[in-house]
Amino acid sequence: MKTKIIPMSEENIDSEALAEAGGIIRNGGLVAFPTETVYGLGGDALQEESSGRIYRAKGRPSDNPLIVHICRMEDLPPIVAYVPEAARKLAEAFWPGPLTMVLPKSDKVPRMTTGGLDTVAVRMPGHKVALAFIKAAGGYVAAPSANLSGRPSPTLAKYVAEDMDGRIEMILDGGEIGIGLESTIVDLTEDIPVILRPGSVTREMLEGVLGKVGVDRAILEGNSGQAPKAPGMKYRHYAPKGELTIINGRQENVVMEINRRTRQMQEKGERVGVIGTDDTVSLYLADSVKNAGNRKDETTIAKALYRILREFDGEGVTVIYSECFGDAEENGIGQAIMNRLLKAAGYRLEYV
Ligand code: AMP
Ligand code: MG
Repeated sequence: MKTKIIPMSEENIDSEALAEAGGIIRNGGLVAFPTETVYGLGGDALQEESSGRIYRAKGRPSDNPLIVHICRMEDLPPIVAYVPEAARKLAEAFWPGPLTMVLPKSDKVPRMTTGGLDTVAVRMPGHKVALAFIKAAGGYVAAPSANLSGRPSPTLAKYVAEDMDGRIEMILDGGEIGIGLESTIVDLTEDIPVILRPGSVTREMLEGVLGKVGVDRAILEGNSGQAPKAPGMKYRHYAPKGELTIINGRQENVVMEINRRTRQMQEKGERVGVIGTDDTVSLYLADSVKNAGNRKDETTIAKALYRILREFDGEGVTVIYSECFGDAEENGIGQAIMNRLLKAAGYRLEYV
């Protein structure tokens, strides 16, 4: 299959190309598209076979459910058993935007889309190309991140092409993504809402609307061996090819320790990459040193993280050391960054 790549920014929406993209989805095909979080790999959420194709294109196990993307509030009731009051309030506050809600599903949504579950995850993305594309596609686009399973989510169309060329019909190239980490997922099927995946809509922001909100224990404790609440949480995600270790501690100790290990690994013939920040990148001795951004503005780090992991892969880096960003218990986007970084590191975190 030849994959068509079509440039389409929020400022310049090409309605003819959009109609073609929508037609591909209606006919059971796949189109990758930009959202404000990461690129999505879209198929018709209401056609069982389309979801099947998404799993195959990604090499993703089919019990790892997909998020259904909508573009209008009136499209929510048909795909859920009921709309809880909490969902209305959250939609009012955060949609369109980087928040996914897990709700009881209606019969309209095939189990193939929900990984066999009776619940469905729904999001209205805050990106004009995404919204126009979903509308052109008929209103319900199932879309996980547009990467091969186990690779970092794509924040640029060239990374989508790297993973998906020849596997899907079309890529809408909307340039660099704004946020860079996947949406916050909140489960609204229990008495108390629970965050299943941290993102840029933070726990404080959700609690501002709903009152008390819980956080799934697997997020706080990492790989605790406990059965995960969301089926997708059991899979290793976001893995770079190089073995990544996070080093935490006082800044000067971290720099010294990373340089010590770098030399040791280089002597063994490894190619070493380091992830630092504005304050530290000039101090590292590794083969490839990447600047994740500025600690005073963690959104810069969120945006850079997946790109950096992909760049290391392209450079043949075999060992990676990263500074620690944020804290699994912290509020704000630091929790989401740390959650993704820990997964990419297979939970290797050491203190110096
Ligand atoms: P991705 O779009 O690649 O970020 O993956 C979507 C993720 O959403 C999955 O890995 C699940 O963790 C989560 N998810 C989707 N649907 C549900 C659901 N019905 N219940 C719980 N989690 C879900
Ligand atoms: Mg993903």
